[in-house]
Amino acid sequence: MNQRLVDLVITNGTVHTPEGSVRQNVCVLNGRIVGLADDANTPPAARVIDARGLDVLPGLWHVHCHFREPGHTYKEDFTSGTTAAAAGGITFCIDMTNNDPHPTTLEAFELKRSTIAPKALVDYALYGGGLYPKTVAPLAKAGAIGIKVFNTRHVKEVYPYISELGVVDHGILHELYEAVADTGLLCAVHHDDSEWCKRLTFRDYINPGKTSNRDYMEAYEKGYMYGHGMAAGLAASTYYARITGVRLHVLHMGVMPPAANGLVRFARQQGVDISGEMETAALFMTREQAEKVGPGAYAWAYAPEANWRAVHDGTADMLVGEHAPHTLEEITPGWQDNFSVPLGVTGAQEFIPMVLNAVNQGQLTLQDVARLCAEAPAKRFGQYPKKGRIQIGADADFTIVDMKAENLFKAADMHTRAGYTAYEGISTQGMPVYTIVRGSTVMDHGKIVGQPGHGQFHPGIAAT
Ligand SMILES: [Zn+2]
Repeated sequence: MNQRLVDLVITNGTVHTPEGSVRQNVCVLNGRIVGLADDANTPPAARVIDARGLDVLPGLWHVHCHFREPGHTYKEDFTSGTTAAAAGGITFCIDMTNNDPHPTTLEAFELKRSTIAPKALVDYALYGGGLYPKTVAPLAKAGAIGIKVFNTRHVKEVYPYISELGVVDHGILHELYEAVADTGLLCAVHHDDSEWCKRLTFRDYINPGKTSNRDYMEAYEKGYMYGHGMAAGLAASTYYARITGVRLHVLHMGVMPPAANGLVRFARQQGVDISGEMETAALFMTREQAEKVGPGAYAWAYAPEANWRAVHDGTADMLVGEHAPHTLEEITPGWQDNFSVPLGVTGAQEFIPMVLNAVNQGQLTLQDVARLCAEAPAKRFGQYPKKGRIQIGADADFTIVDMKAENLFKAADMHTRAGYTAYEGISTQGMPVYTIVRGSTVMDHGKIVGQPGHGQFHPGIAAT
């Protein structure tokens, strides 16, 4: 065995892959995994992390972050957002596009990329904004990880803040799919049928003055803003995906009514190259907690059995803890009029602790977590085998967790600028204790020890 000095060895931990778990030492040199060894074959190291009693997972991904930069940095910026992610055990983030300016052109994408480059603590990739079919190819060449389309427009134009980002014309949607198909990238879509949504939500809720947070909750569970419109939008989209051959990635699976899971299954049977992400709020956020935080949690688990089924049967390929921060000042009027405020929820820091709590409750295994939160997204977004799995040659990204550690969510411990957590007062068990990005420790037992600028940009598969 090679006995040269390595930079780091993680000893005595249990290492997890989607297929199994094994007690192994992990050896790191120059930011890469160079060995998986028993004690007798482990080389000397400059630094040792003793993971006795701990579980070593591949670096976990969060593919649905709104870090709000550029344009809305009073809500979040790339440093506060990736700090929250690092604190929550995340090593890789994918950032969304509803910024100002929105990265729908090469110039705006490059501006965003250079603005955030010195600010990230963990690794990241950026969606390009899907709005103009002609700019898709330049965005892909510039390194977009995929193209995000807002096939939606808020009933009062509150979201996605910049109304023109909403692509509600299916002819343009079709042309975007053609353009994205040519690049080979994923097209990630927030589906909707905005006219349906607007007409019915106004008729039955807004016009009769039923606008309080509780009215909104009733409307949401009945499929008004946005449920049925989102599912109908998904049905149309999968048809256009089938005839254009675009690789489709379905956002907000847990926000749509459970029947949407069936639409994804049907599309897959029909040969559509489709994946989907399940929001953890739709699995874990109780009705009681949603009532407590009101406009601070736009989604909750009103059909958890159907959503868990979609996770366990593979309909949902990955999990996300959507992070869509807004300030309390912005969302508080939602107690009276929830249809006029932006839909918020926090998740960057809470996502993995909630997932680990589900492992302790027997709803998932750590092998599932290695698949749903690392290997599956890394593969789908074209970053595998460099990322996504603990194996020789891969980047040394790890989330080391203590499955016995207890946690109580409270606003004071959160790094987001939102100023609150949607999970305030919730107790969980199982916590990330080290977040390690390319061999460097970014979070150590809750303390942030990484620096802004350590996080690297990872381009998509069509970058030149
Ligand atoms: Zn979002």
